Amino acid sequence: MKKVTDYRPCRVPLRRTSLGDASIVVHAGAVASIKRIEARWLARGGNAAYAIRRADTGAFNCRRTVGGTSMSKHAWGCAVDVNWGTNPFGSRLVTDMPRWFVQLWRDEGWGWGGNWRGKKDAMHFSKFENEGGDGKLYVGEGVGGEPIEEEDWFDMATKAELEALLQPIRDDIAQLKKAIGVGQDFAQHTNVLKALSQLLDRV
Ligand SMILES: [Zn+2]
Repeated sequence: MKKVTDYRPCRVPLRRTSLGDASIVVHAGAVASIKRIEARWLARGGNAAYAIRRADTGAFNCRRTVGGTSMSKHAWGCAVDVNWGTNPFGSRLVTDMPRWFVQLWRDEGWGWGGNWRGKKDAMHFSKFENEGGDGKLYVGEGVGGEPIEEEDWFDMATKAELEALLQPIRDDIAQLKKAIGVGQDFAQHTNVLKALSQLLDRV
């Protein structure tokens, strides 16, 4: 058994799997859980009972939090957004999800953003303990789903997503340049070179 915190953002084994009509990319260690949720959702009547829409359901996304400095939980593939059109993020809870649908996820150790104190994120289910999840992943136990190669992460990303990923690195480089003063020779500053190589590791 692994913990979500054993992984670095964006550097996780990924699988593509179905969730009803939706096709989502998640951490390999979460696929079995998603398949169990899907099976129980189908047993309850599937789309006829609560439709999962392909157009506004997704999971893995290598990005920072919106307007924040930390990485989004979606960068670990351990958070799933379901039907965001009718389950928006906001200061009060707005959701069309039946209780039983939320319970399917709770039973599998996923926290629900609709239960958060403060701002609500009704679309959002998360394995992270600080979001109400159990933090548990199961890797290498017949996880299922289609493997996704590491290079594909960047192929899948939109230009805007890649820009969002690069921007904090650009900001850091700009700060470094400012700190050492414009016009000085970079090569003479070993600390700067070290910092730059650490930044490049993150690209
Ligand atoms: Zn989310």
